[in-house]
This record gives sequence, C-alpha cells and structure tokens, in this order.
Amino acid sequence: MSKNDLHFNSKTIHGGQEPDAAYGAVMPPIYQTSTYAQTTPGGHKGYEYSRSGNPTRHALEKSLASIENGQYGLAFASGLSAMDAVIKLLNPGDEVVSTNDLYGGSYRLFRQIFEKYGIKFHFVGMEDVGRIEEKINKKTKLIWVETPTNPMMNVIDLKAVAALSATHSLLLAVDNTFATPYLQRPLDLGADIVMHSATKYLGGHSDVVLGALIVKDKELADKLFFIQNASGAVCGPMDSFLVLRGIKTLHVRMQRHCENGRSVAEYLVNHPKIEKVYWPGFSDHPNHDIARSQMTDFGGMISFIPKGGTYEDAVKIVEKLELFILAESLGGVESLAGHPASMTHASIPKEEREKSGVVDSLIRLSVGIEDARDLIADLEQALA
Ligand SMILES: *Cc1c(COP(=O)(O)O)cnc(C)c1O
Repeated sequence: MSKNDLHFNSKTIHGGQEPDAAYGAVMPPIYQTSTYAQTTPGGHKGYEYSRSGNPTRHALEKSLASIENGQYGLAFASGLSAMDAVIKLLNPGDEVVSTNDLYGGSYRLFRQIFEKYGIKFHFVGMEDVGRIEEKINKKTKLIWVETPTNPMMNVIDLKAVAALSATHSLLLAVDNTFATPYLQRPLDLGADIVMHSATKYLGGHSDVVLGALIVKDKELADKLFFIQNASGAVCGPMDSFLVLRGIKTLHVRMQRHCENGRSVAEYLVNHPKIEKVYWPGFSDHPNHDIARSQMTDFGGMISFIPKGGTYEDAVKIVEKLELFILAESLGGVESLAGHPASMTHASIPKEEREKSGVVDSLIRLSVGIEDARDLIADLEQALA
C-alpha cells in the first residue's frame, strides 16, 4: 500500500513516515546534534551538518510534502523565513504581484527588506482576478497569494490565478496558513509553491514558531534547498518534532475549528450590536461559491466590526473577553482575539490598511476547539 495513495486524514499520521531505523521508535527521535561522524572524509550516512540536513527535520519535511500533495518539503525557522527564501529566488529588477490584504509581517518583509534590494511589489485586491493582469509586465516573475486573506477573509480563485500565472510563465506561491491542506491544497489547483506559517494550525498548540515550503518541481526544490542551506534559516530538531506531532491531529482539530467557527459566525451575524461579520461560509460572502469549490469547509477565522464602532470600542471588547485570549497569532487549540489595527497589522500604514478594509474597529477571532457554548457565552458577556 503506497502512502501516497492514502486519504488526507491518514496522510497526516503516516505520510512520509516510517518507524525509526535504529530502534523502531514510532515517533522520529529528536536528533539534537549539529554534526555527524564520518568514517572517511565524505563518508557519512546521509547527514553532515544540521543546517544542511537533520533527520528530525527531514521527517517533518516529508510529512509536509505528503499532506500538501507535493514532492518536496522544506522547513524553516519561521513562516517569514520561508517567504524570505521564496523572494530570494528573484533578482533585482524583478516584480511581484501580491494580494493586498495580507499578513502584516509579509507586507513588512516585502516593502522594508526586499524593496531595498530592487525588487518591486504591487498589491492588488485579487478577489477580482482581472486586477492581477493589469500589473503584469515583462519584469513580473512571481504572484504571491494569501487566501482566505488576513484579516478580511476574502477568497481568491486559485485555479483562475494559476491559469493566469501559467499564461505568463510566472511562479505562483500561495500562503496556505489560514486554510491548511485540510481545507485547500493549492498545488492540486496549479500553484508552484505552498508556504505555511506552521506556527499556526500545523503546529496547532501555540508552542512553536516554524515555517514551511512545499513544491512539486525538482528544479524549483533544488533552488530552494540551496537558499535554505546558503541562508541558513532552518528550524531546530525539537521544533520540527513539535510540528510533526501537531500535524498528526490536524484533521481532527480542523474539523472542530470549522464547526466552532460556524457557530460563532452565526451567533455574531445575528447579534444586534454587530455591524458586519467576515466569514467565507456565509452565502452572501462575495466569493462564497469559490470558497465552496476550492475549500472543503470554511475554517475557524472570523473578523467582525461592532456597530458604530471606534478604535476604543474594539479595544474595550477584546479586553473584556475572558476565554478568548487577547494575543497575536492564530490556529492554536485555544481561542484568541486580536485587534489587527494595533497588533498584527500595525506595520501597515493606516491609509493602506483601510483601503483593504482593516478599519480601527475590526476584531479578528481565531476560534479554538473549546466547547462552542462557552465561546458564545464569553462573546455575549463582552458585547453586553
Ligand atoms: C503568522 C503568519 C505568517 C508569518 O509566520 P511566522 O511563523 O510568524 O514567521 C505568514 N502568513 C500568515 C498568513 C500568518 O498568519
């Protein structure tokens, strides 16, 4: 039975994994070593130095490749260092078309690091795919997509973007952090690179910072492996182990995140003090049909605006929440609440931010896997 043919819920546990060759350990040992003994110069068992390769990291990389239906996985010290490696495929003068509503740190990396090296970024609302084409020219090399977007929960049609990318012979990279491969597998829809902040749902327990890239193409994988080793932003064996352990329960956690997400979204949308709820599962969400066709469910990320809300109102609500912890990040088993304007998206200028809808009163929830009744009771008391 080939492990490549397993269903997703089995791949999370078995994909790319074999019991350890030395003692049959079912979980890969944490190979906490920087170097490996050689019998003669160059005579080693596949590992020379842990920046270039480490067995625990490789076990994770194989699992990542398996769950995203890719051929090659690469694990990094953080989601941003994984993105950094992708942009290092480019040269000065090259251009990138990126989603406008994206993780604040991604925006900062593009604008404040890579623009200095002569790479140009265009930010467009990709929920209308036509807007991407307007920015494509001879210098364009990469399309960077985040869907659902953070924090506005816009949904971008990956198949349509992949077709456009192929027509212009561009690379298409998708940040799949919000959806995870449980909900959406961009490589199957035509993307070249999938990126993850495994810090979020893949790790799933808010106890590790780690990033990942997954690709199908050998030549592209080789270029990225070269950058991973040459730049050196690799994750350690302990962190690799934690994410590997997290992935094993991804499917059961995601199922509950989606159920609870639906309960909380439906509660909020019917609440008299709420102006607007952003969640792709609503039938009047602008790209609900695309969400339905490219995702298996709608996830546990929700944003909302209180009626007539100000910056202060939003701050008051997130401070009043007790079960929802006020914190950056998302995707852990515990529910979190955030205020994008002052937290995750503070690095984006107010004017830029508001263009994509990230107003001062917007609140973002990462709905965890607690009992939904307790989550709703917490929102009830905070909104009262
Ligand atoms: C958190 C996050 C990142 C950055 O990942 P780190 O692991 O924090 O470096 C990138 N994209 C999205 C969508 C994120 O949520």
